[in-house]
Formats: sequence, structure tokens, C-alpha cells
Amino acid sequence: MKEKLQFSTLCTSEVHTTESSAHILPIHASSSFRFDSVEASIEVFTGKKEGYVYGRYGNPTIKAVESKLATLEGYDLEEPCRALLTSSGMSAIHTLLLSQLRPGDAVLTQGNLYGGTTELLLKTFGSLDIETIMVDLSNAESVRSALIGHNNIKCLYLETPTNPTLDCIDIKTIASIAKENGCLVAVDNTFATPYLQRPLTLGADFVIHSTTKYLNGHGNGIAGVIIGRSSEVLWPIIWQNMKLAGTNCNPFDAWLVHNGLKTLPLRMDRQCQNAKALAQFLDHHPSVAKVNYPGLATHASHQIAKDQMTDFGAMLSFEVKGEEKEALAVMNGLDIASIAPTLGDVDTLVLHPWTSSHLNVDNDVCLKNGITPNLIRVSVGIEDQDDLVQDFRQAIEKVISV
Ligand SMILES: *Cc1c(COP(=O)(O)O)cnc(C)c1O
Repeated sequence: MKEKLQFSTLCTSEVHTTESSAHILPIHASSSFRFDSVEASIEVFTGKKEGYVYGRYGNPTIKAVESKLATLEGYDLEEPCRALLTSSGMSAIHTLLLSQLRPGDAVLTQGNLYGGTTELLLKTFGSLDIETIMVDLSNAESVRSALIGHNNIKCLYLETPTNPTLDCIDIKTIASIAKENGCLVAVDNTFATPYLQRPLTLGADFVIHSTTKYLNGHGNGIAGVIIGRSSEVLWPIIWQNMKLAGTNCNPFDAWLVHNGLKTLPLRMDRQCQNAKALAQFLDHHPSVAKVNYPGLATHASHQIAKDQMTDFGAMLSFEVKGEEKEALAVMNGLDIASIAPTLGDVDTLVLHPWTSSHLNVDNDVCLKNGITPNLIRVSVGIEDQDDLVQDFRQAIEKVISV
């Protein structure tokens, strides 16, 4: 039997479609698919034979990329996985949760989710009479008592590491508590990627990604994905919801994700190394008040991150000594890092959560979650490490005298 290939080899390998012998995956830019006869079309329409019909239902380019994503996220599993690419990370979350939840049900989650997800749960799902219960998911006892106190909780939805303070949640522990209570477990694995963390192995039923971030890696497309074991009973309804709401990915964005995946391990290794170096530099700088990076032994989640991730990721945040004014001035003073509200690109990006991603979150909620006016979030890129550290040094020292 052939030996199982390493994760990075699978990332780099081409995927092919039976429709073409091109070495590199072609973009099938076609809204519909032709049949040789009406009889052949009837076989596909009635489900007797597999085949492509219409772009919103599926496309060979998209299917090839889905197969690769399923292989990577399910890398440690014996069972096969399935993936469904969607138009964005938000539509992946929306499509998955809509397939599971009914009026009267509740979702158990954390207060420090991606902002769009919090809004989706409170506004869109709230209007459908689906309740959102937020607790500190790093505390197993609060998870247990929430589940005991609300028998309508049907789904545990979580993110780890969290944005922007990089707190980590022990997936294995709380997934097992949720499963004991008959809950579906869904994890947003955008920050870690399957290269660093595999929630399906740790007990999750479904993983979603904003592939817009690390999986694409180059900041040139928006897409998302839902991944779970092929045997999940929810798949027919998930696919139906995607098809009927038109939350499908387009072939070009799927192709860009595939192009990005080829270098995921290389990019991630370099980005993790750079993040570690930058975190250590900031941690020792007298004008920096606090650094949030799970790779630092002083970070509250260091041990959990070490246990469930193969490296600590490339996201970090830090508080400069001073107020909002000093944080903004440091950001404006950066030459290499760009100010942009995304993450996971090959170049370093900074964001000021207080005035951007968390602008619509109440100040006291922000402060309770460690989001202060002097906090800067960094998505660390693949630049030369010394150049990067020097950029932050000059920006900080220009503003705050040591
Ligand atoms: C960006 C992001 C999303 C939303 O993804 P889009 O592709 O922008 O729709 C969801 N979760 C996390 C953690 C994200 O960073």
C-alpha cells in the first residue's frame, strides 16, 4: 500500500478534474453544463447519475478545491470528509447554522467572536427566534452549567485563538461536554488553519473557514468553506441551503484558494517564526505595556495552545504605553506594515480594534475582553524578520520616548 503523504505534500499537489488534462487546475467559467442527450440530462436531474447541471449547484473547479480542503482538514481522520465552498466566511457560517437551528433553539458561544459572527447571531438569527447564549468558553464549568440551564441549546459554536487577544479554548474538553448533551460542535478555524490545528480530530462536527484569510493567503479573494465528515446527516440540507440561497463560491475565487493552499505550510512556518520574533521584541520593549501572543510563556493560553496547535500562529496584539492617540500614531508611523482590516496575507497588516472591528461593541464589553484603546492587532507576514522588527521599533520609538 502507498504510504500516506505528508500534509505539506498534499497542500502543494495539483488537483485535477476529469474534464481536462491540463496540469494546473482550469477555471471552468461556465454557468451551466451541456448534456449529450435529453436522456443523459434526465439521469443527472433525477439523481441516478452524478454530474454537473448548473453553476450554483456545483462546478468542476470548485469540486476539485473542495476535495483538497476536505483532505487537509480531515488529515488525521480515518473517515473521509466533505467540504463545501461558499461565497464568504460569513455565508459558510450562515449556511451551516441555518441548516441546524430552528426557532426556539439556542447557540452556545463566546462573547469574543469575530464581529460579523456576533452580529449574524444576534440580528439575523435573533430575528428567527434563535437565541444566542454567550459564556466564557475557556471555563468548562460555565459551559456545563449553561447546557444544564438551557435545554434548547443545539449548537456549540466557537473560535480559537480568539480575536484580537488570542485567548485559546480547549476544544477537546468543551466539545466532549457539548457532545454529552447532544449538541452539534462547530469551530471557526480561520486563525489557525488545518496546518496548525484540526478541530475535527479534537471532537468538532464541522469546521468553517473564512478562506479569505490564510488559506487564500494573498488577499485577493473572498470565500469560505464548511468541512465535516462525509457521513454527517446534515450534508443534504447544507447543500440545499447553499443551492437555494445562492451562497456558492465562484470558480475564480475557488481557484485562488487552491493557488494559495500550495504554499500554506511554507507561509505559515515563516509567519509563525516572524510572529514569535516580533512578540518577543515587543514583550521586551519598555514602551509596550502588554503583548498578547499564545507563543509567549506568559500568555494565559500558552499551555492550551501548545497542546492543541502545532505552532502558535501569526496573529498577535499589543498595547502601547499611552492612550488611543499613541496607538494610532504608532500605526501611522509604520512603513512596512499596512493598515488594513483583514488578516492572513503574506504582508504584515495592522488594525486598531477599538475604532474598527469593535467599533459597534459596547466599550465596557470591549474592556472586559481586553480590547483597550491602546491595543494594536498585527497579522504578521513573511517579510524579512529584522526588517519587520525594525519597522515596529522605529514606529514605536518615534512616538513614545523610552
Ligand atoms: C474574516 C473572518 C470571518 C468572515 O469571513 P469573510 O470571508 O470576510 O466573510 C469569520 N471568522 C473569522 C475568524 C474571520 O477572521
